[in-house]
Amino acid sequence: MRTRAALMFESGRLDVHEVELEEPGADEVVVRMVAVGVCGTDLHSYKGEWERPTPIVLGHEGAGVVEEVGADVTSVRAGDRVVLSWAPGCGECSACRRKRPAACAPLSTAFGRGTLLDGRTGISFEGETVYRGTATGAFQERLVVAAGAALPLGETIPLEQAALLGCAALTGVGAVLNAARPEPGFTTLVIGAGGVGQFVVQGARIAGAAVILVVDPVEGRREQALRLGATAACAPENVKEAVRALDPEGVDYVFDAVGAPETTALALRWTRGGGTAVVVGLPAVGAKLSLDPLDFTNREKTLTGTIYGSDDPAVALPRLLDLAARGELELASLVGPSFPLDRADEAFQASLAGSPGRVLIEP
Ligand SMILES: [Zn+2]
Ligand SMILES: [Zn+2]
Repeated sequence: MRTRAALMFESGRLDVHEVELEEPGADEVVVRMVAVGVCGTDLHSYKGEWERPTPIVLGHEGAGVVEEVGADVTSVRAGDRVVLSWAPGCGECSACRRKRPAACAPLSTAFGRGTLLDGRTGISFEGETVYRGTATGAFQERLVVAAGAALPLGETIPLEQAALLGCAALTGVGAVLNAARPEPGFTTLVIGAGGVGQFVVQGARIAGAAVILVVDPVEGRREQALRLGATAACAPENVKEAVRALDPEGVDYVFDAVGAPETTALALRWTRGGGTAVVVGLPAVGAKLSLDPLDFTNREKTLTGTIYGSDDPAVALPRLLDLAARGELELASLVGPSFPLDRADEAFQASLAGSPGRVLIEP
């Protein structure tokens, strides 16, 4: 089977080529991709901050329609609308046993190697192996994935909006509801109002935050956060006075939706004594933190992290769909500009430029 895919042969550039796909196995499905978001993880690879095997197809935040299913697949049928999960998990390691497939040990190995869980990629270009970003590789017209990675969506939400559920929404909302689990009435600072940050803001609103301060250098993103439930927003140079105006000691919870060592340091700094800083954004490989242990002893702060919403995506997705149906989770206004597959490079440039709203590629 052949399809068209956006290949990255070297960082900073995508080229669309026809590639060869292996036929789906008994427990795999073929998904015709309709909308795929450009996520921070993709940008790390594109910018060369993560060394990736090449050529590679990036993309993991997607929605589409099932075209074909393997003989053993019962969870979805041809014609079903689905959201991709990038964490099907092996089902057997300690992370999978505690229902955290995103922390699955074999999956983590697969991420590093640019393959699927079983070590294959199932994609080739002119006889050469094509690797997969985030064990997925969704910037293609057709995608072969494990049935467990294609979560049924039902008929309610347009696929452009559904794509966002697959990574940014699960990650951002889950960071608040599952990783932090704050009591209603809490105060919070959200660092970074990109795709994930906007969903952290919404998660905080849903969890009953009294104060949601957002810091981001891009004005359009700050305005968007205010529309989604932030009570205040500021540029990075004003964060000190903005937090002090709320409470000189800091806030109950700080979410670092960027994940750079500088923003994590900022998160810990503005967490009040006894409060919690949660790292949500993924740092560049090799990044190191410099910590003051007194923050943890004398000031009893907690520093923690979360991946993919700290829950099983198959369990968390129906909850998000429910929140969206009730109008508590806003998706439509978070969809940014969309680009056809042939203009994948432009899509990445728009995302790097800080476009408010998720930039989508529509293969
Ligand atoms: Zn992502
Ligand atoms: Zn596992």
